[in-house]
Amino acid sequence: MIDRKQFLRALAAGTAAGIVARASPAIAAAQAVAAPGRGPRRTPKGGELLLTDAIVVTMDAERRAFRSGFVWLRDGRVHRVGAMRELGAVPYGVARRALDGQLVMPGLVNCHTHLSNGMLRGVYDEMPLETWFSKGMWPVLDGLDRRNGEAAAELALLELMSMGVTTTATGEIGSRHPEMLDGVLGAVERSGIRAQVSRIAMDSADPTNAAQFIPEGYRDTPAFAADEVRRLKRRYDSDRVTVTPEALGVLRCTPEMVQAMHAVAVEHGCLFTMHAASSQDERDASRKRFGHGSITELERLGVLGPRTLLAHAIWLDDAEIALLAARGTGLSHNPVSNAYYASGVARLPELLKAGVRVGLGVDGASTNNGQNVWETMKMAMLFQKQQREDPGFGSAELALELMTVGGARALHLEEEVGSLEAGKRADLIVIDTGRVSLAPAQTLVSNLVYSNDPWAVRDVYVDGERIVAGGVHRALDRPTVVRGATGALDRVLNKAGLEGYIEGRSRWSWR
Ligand SMILES: [Zn+2]
Repeated sequence: MIDRKQFLRALAAGTAAGIVARASPAIAAAQAVAAPGRGPRRTPKGGELLLTDAIVVTMDAERRAFRSGFVWLRDGRVHRVGAMRELGAVPYGVARRALDGQLVMPGLVNCHTHLSNGMLRGVYDEMPLETWFSKGMWPVLDGLDRRNGEAAAELALLELMSMGVTTTATGEIGSRHPEMLDGVLGAVERSGIRAQVSRIAMDSADPTNAAQFIPEGYRDTPAFAADEVRRLKRRYDSDRVTVTPEALGVLRCTPEMVQAMHAVAVEHGCLFTMHAASSQDERDASRKRFGHGSITELERLGVLGPRTLLAHAIWLDDAEIALLAARGTGLSHNPVSNAYYASGVARLPELLKAGVRVGLGVDGASTNNGQNVWETMKMAMLFQKQQREDPGFGSAELALELMTVGGARALHLEEEVGSLEAGKRADLIVIDTGRVSLAPAQTLVSNLVYSNDPWAVRDVYVDGERIVAGGVHRALDRPTVVRGATGALDRVLNKAGLEGYIEGRSRWSWR
């Protein structure tokens, strides 16, 4: 035992934790579990369940698909998958669920969003990029505190998971309200989703480019940002959630910041994320400042590699595409968000041909405006057809592959998720094939992407746990989440001085 006075003196000296650890083996053990390097916390796993009589799309290396198949889940992993005729004897006591021709496929992998933007959909419609920076982004960040960020994240998570997303990457800005990340991560934990949550840092003081300039008060220091990532990792890392460092962009960060964030990723063996080559303006500014594009600059800084995930990557030359392939860098292609700001059409065919690890992302609701992963799959195909005047580009199968195995490769999680194979995580979704929009049955796979019915997803399993059942999320109550997001948007707009902005831009006579 230690006495109270001794403890208070130690607290004042900053050594209280050490004294408690010496005094109490139980507390010391609890702290050791949370410490980095001891392995992540384990989340609950589903038990044993046999899903039968389903159309099963595996996305395995042979792309096997079964017209009448089964998926057997055990301890959070896929135990077996195959055709019904191969099932054989099932031990007594294994729970079974007959799916009567519904479709089972791997859970979708969304490689890019910003959960704390969840309630900002519709706010920036038709807003020019310069106005978005002066009137949009910075004032809104002032209002994104813990409570508002959490409400926004709940809305985005409910939308993503209801549409079949079991793994998402997300980037969250913490320079204005560091505790906002705690709000987002709390929502992520409650939702049960598998997530890579990046703590975004930015510090560029270069005033020559308004689009890339970070105003004072919104800048991190490399040391503070790195400590924040470590703090969040200690508190939230589990076998389902990983906190990762992000340097926002090569022009919005000093080289010191980019390298400091990359060093934290190396230290913890986790992903390092960035936004890169997102616009023509960024490419031109990068060439002007560095004499080459931003991907080449990242290579020069030594931060391209298999633990790196880049968002957007629209404006790339051939050498940069080859570099991304050679380094094993992951890439989130965000076609709907890119179109929202008319930022250009990414070179998807060339990226795939070069073997770059490409997945798809919706991006935040402030630049999309939804979290509709099915729309993103469809538009990933349509924008290429349109721009290249080639209706033969792509396929519904390619779109589904990019949103599952492709996303898993981009996030460097392909050993764990992205396909239904024995030993992988039991992350999967069940789709109601009886929906009007998915008929006729002969063209089901095409209909999934091109006829596009995100609400056809009925059930969502993560680690074998049924988190969405019959379209209802077990932890995120829809009316509560919707009310929370509406309240959060009011508070954020009021704080930004934008309260009349949305009605003010309408040409209609509201009465
Ligand atoms: Zn983004």
